[in-house]
Amino acid sequence: MNSYRPVNNFRISIIFSLLLLATASQLSVRADGFDYPVTQITDKIHVIFGPLELPDKNNRGFRNNVVIVSTSKGIVLMDPGGSAWSGDMVAAKIKSMTDMPVVAVFNSHAHGDHWLGNEGIKHHFPDAVIYGHPNMKARLEQSDGLFWLETINRVTDNKANGKEVIAPDRTVNNDDVISIGDTDFRIFHFGKAHTDNDIMVEIVGEDTLFTGDVVRNRFIGLMEDDSSFTGNIEAIEKIVAMNYKYYIPGHGNSGDVEIPLTYNTYLKSLRKVVKQMFDEGMESYEMKPGIIDALADYRQWRGFDTRLGGQISQVYLEIEKEEFE
Ligand SMILES: [Zn+2]
Repeated sequence: MNSYRPVNNFRISIIFSLLLLATASQLSVRADGFDYPVTQITDKIHVIFGPLELPDKNNRGFRNNVVIVSTSKGIVLMDPGGSAWSGDMVAAKIKSMTDMPVVAVFNSHAHGDHWLGNEGIKHHFPDAVIYGHPNMKARLEQSDGLFWLETINRVTDNKANGKEVIAPDRTVNNDDVISIGDTDFRIFHFGKAHTDNDIMVEIVGEDTLFTGDVVRNRFIGLMEDDSSFTGNIEAIEKIVAMNYKYYIPGHGNSGDVEIPLTYNTYLKSLRKVVKQMFDEGMESYEMKPGIIDALADYRQWRGFDTRLGGQISQVYLEIEKEEFE
């Protein structure tokens, strides 16, 4: 299934969960050509809030938040969606809003739902410069690029329209400031968190931080073997201390500091209850019923029924590893 790297059971289990869940979510059919609204956040910033769904043939792989920033030089995008189709859709939206071209794109991390849209953007705006973390660029150029391209094409019945992997042109790292026209973009990377290649981007002067998947709003998504719950919790503590007016997460609505605080409370609660059960000698597969009760406050979050189990095993492995360090 994945011939580009040694067999990785966790990764294959993700493919199967995506396939199974994509089939289930097709029950909620949305008409083709659904028009995603563009929401204004500040004078310079708009967001297309993607649906909180898994990729399927109806959403054509589009399921994340796309940030659109107007600068004096042109439009700057963050995470242009999870398919070539969504890049086309975002490009068409921008052309309906302004005559300015897209001049730059920031990719928050290597998960396909955040960068596969690069292909559609480059098709419409070939001069746009794509930025990402060095680990992200390396992952796309090794095996992850083709893995995501093929997976998303498959689960969308090829409605994602993906033909090629478009990796970042340039790399950025913690504390870099990229000036584009009249606007500065400050990059944060605090080490391993949601992945080992996250960037968060401050839109300087707009009191706004785009967090990528380091923060998700009322959404329990996949965590992979390149992620760290502890690192994610610590990264959120840092951005909470910065106290921006607007936090735009990778998935779900934006808002004030309550958005990262709420997500961190979830991560900390999950970690705490798994640690308690670990200390009592329980195995990870025995924990789920007790954890569902302990985390009842989060029952309404998207993914609670389907993805909590995976997160429990991952936190368990992380705690087990820490015990032996
Ligand atoms: Zn992600």
